[in-house]
Amino acid sequence: MSRIRGLRCRECGAEYPTAPLHVCEMCFGPLEVVYDYEEIAQVLSRERIASGPPNHWRYQDLLPLDGEPTDGHDTGYTPLLPARNLAAALGVREVWIKNDSVCAPTLSFKDRVVSVALSKAKEFGFDTVACASTGNLANAVAAHAARAGLRAFIFIPADLELGKVVGTSIYRPHLVGIEGTYDEVNRLCSEIAGVYPWAFVNINIRPFYSEGSKTFGFEILEQLGWRAPDHIVVPCAGGSLITKVRKAIQEFHKLGLIDRADTKVHAAQAAGCGPIVTAIREGEEFVRPVRPNTIAKSLAIGNPADGIYAVAAARESGGFGAHATDEEIVAAIELLASTEGIFTETAGGVTLAATKRLIEEGRIGRDDSVVISITGNGLKTLEVVQNVVKPAYVIPPRLEAFQELMKTIE
Ligand SMILES: *Cc1c(COP(=O)(O)O)cnc(C)c1O
Ligand SMILES: [Zn+2]
Repeated sequence: MSRIRGLRCRECGAEYPTAPLHVCEMCFGPLEVVYDYEEIAQVLSRERIASGPPNHWRYQDLLPLDGEPTDGHDTGYTPLLPARNLAAALGVREVWIKNDSVCAPTLSFKDRVVSVALSKAKEFGFDTVACASTGNLANAVAAHAARAGLRAFIFIPADLELGKVVGTSIYRPHLVGIEGTYDEVNRLCSEIAGVYPWAFVNINIRPFYSEGSKTFGFEILEQLGWRAPDHIVVPCAGGSLITKVRKAIQEFHKLGLIDRADTKVHAAQAAGCGPIVTAIREGEEFVRPVRPNTIAKSLAIGNPADGIYAVAAARESGGFGAHATDEEIVAAIELLASTEGIFTETAGGVTLAATKRLIEEGRIGRDDSVVISITGNGLKTLEVVQNVVKPAYVIPPRLEAFQELMKTIE
């Protein structure tokens, strides 16, 4: 008996075997992994998870591998911090930061999805992995492939931040910069995937890859003491993470691991690339593609693959969505750093700024509990704040010079 039944089309329900497939042959709908929850319920318990390894494989029963994981033994199980200073600044009773800016090994939540994707790619027998990326996925695929001894081809928009580019090339993958937007990179990769027999983590391996995002949600629920918060605010690019955070809540509830599953899941996007949030706020079912223009490059996907499912996840949960302007993103990065000592990248700035708006609009109540998803590290996007922060005092190496300086400070 296997925990995994195979793949199923989200649109028409057609079933497929467990294979490197991602679209339905009948209707072109996306495929999703199907589990046997009765089988899983027989073994899974809070105690079993709690006694598991201190990484995201503690949720292996709900991840799509046939064998044992071969990658990501240091990935996940990141801190969930009570954010009291930030709560005071926002005027909300209970605020938590889920801090994947310290996820190992590449400091974003993409380490989770990539470790599942590469373990699965090895099970399928691939020797080369590839991806289209807005930056963090490139970092993660390059690092994990280096460890796994897999060849890696990584495709990015050529104008990404230095930290994202160098933070990829250091692992010695084949890095290809494309003169175009992420959406153009992704379209090219779909064509390349049709010609080269590689494991494209976010194309033909996507059903398995995206399941890795659930662990971000599982950890929040376990770390809150097997409790679902009132709200979780999630940054959206392709829209997979928010969809899987909602799925994580539903799976834990279905398996009796948490009592309530009524968390409102909210979407956060940049004003310069916010098609999912626009659809949520305007009550539309479909997501109208946009051409990205924002400093939040990690979220700059104008035509999100899971857009309609992200809209549905927010809406069905009772959640909403909010945009953040570039100025608001920078201000939120500074607010998080100066209240909680956490330096996040632009995506985290988007999420905090959107949270602020949702509070102001009354979508998040002052007496509620809210988890803010911080998914990436600020050291990778230094250029957006380097001219905003106060420069260092520069003085000669003499006590009198320092005392002179102190006169201007006191
Ligand atoms: C990729 C990414 C996201 C969003 O992921 P999707 O699943 O594509 O919506 C959020 N935050 C960061 C830092 C990312 O790199
Ligand atoms: Zn179908």
